[in-house]
Amino acid sequence: MSENQPKRRRVVLKISGEGFCPPNERGIVMDSVNHLAEQIARVSRAGVQIAIVMGGGNILRGAAFKASNSSIMESTAHYMGMLATIINGLALQDAVEAQGVTTRLMTAVKADTVAEPYIRRRATRHLEKGRIVIIAGGTGSPFVTTDTAAAQRALELDADVLLKATKVDGVYSDDPEKNPEAVFYKNLTYDEVNLQKLRVMDSEAIAKCAEHGMPIMVFNFRVEGNLQRAAVGEHVGTLISDKK
Ligand code: UDP
Repeated sequence: MSENQPKRRRVVLKISGEGFCPPNERGIVMDSVNHLAEQIARVSRAGVQIAIVMGGGNILRGAAFKASNSSIMESTAHYMGMLATIINGLALQDAVEAQGVTTRLMTAVKADTVAEPYIRRRATRHLEKGRIVIIAGGTGSPFVTTDTAAAQRALELDADVLLKATKVDGVYSDDPEKNPEAVFYKNLTYDEVNLQKLRVMDSEAIAKCAEHGMPIMVFNFRVEGNLQRAAVGEHVGTLISDKK
């Protein structure tokens, strides 16, 4: 196999809402979305099937919104967060299609005028046809985050790896933006993530991946080329699996 040939057939990418705007801003800034879209299109052109699970934190996170607004029910706030992922998904869809790649936006929360319902077999078929599948609406249920949705979709779509895009280079012993002594980990086991309480994804997402042996690669999406390298099978950032 030549170096450029993908070792992977199918990946699921989790993008947080923070990828949709410059650092420390909120909302949707199309320059940021376009930058992500370019990188996503490259993965597809490299021959790797890709489904993207959309976050919504650039617009609203249910738990935080509830914490600062006592008049809202927490479940309502979580549904608002799920709707935020559909708004992001629409923006990403246009940005990716502007790159000349076909996409489908699917959602677990009904939004028939703008997105297809998420149906596993249909999503698989889109991927097989080379379409980029953007998955919004999280799991469709409140009180979890899109990390859990990403783990769920990676498992049911039979992905080779769950790619978790973040703003730092991978997993550290502490927040590297606050602690310059934080140690970077190239490889970790699920047990180490749990025992050291490392902040990677929410615990439900890690537990799902651990139970079914879904590897997670955590990498910095702001570094040009990282996504494509991770998607085709290079070791970028931190790889979490059941062995070192
Ligand atoms: N959410 C939910 N159920 C899900 C997925 C998401 O209730 O299955 C809500 C939850 O309130 C979450 C918000 O949607 O905070 C936005 O998703 P998330 O916080 O995961 O976005 P990210 O941090 O990745 O941008």
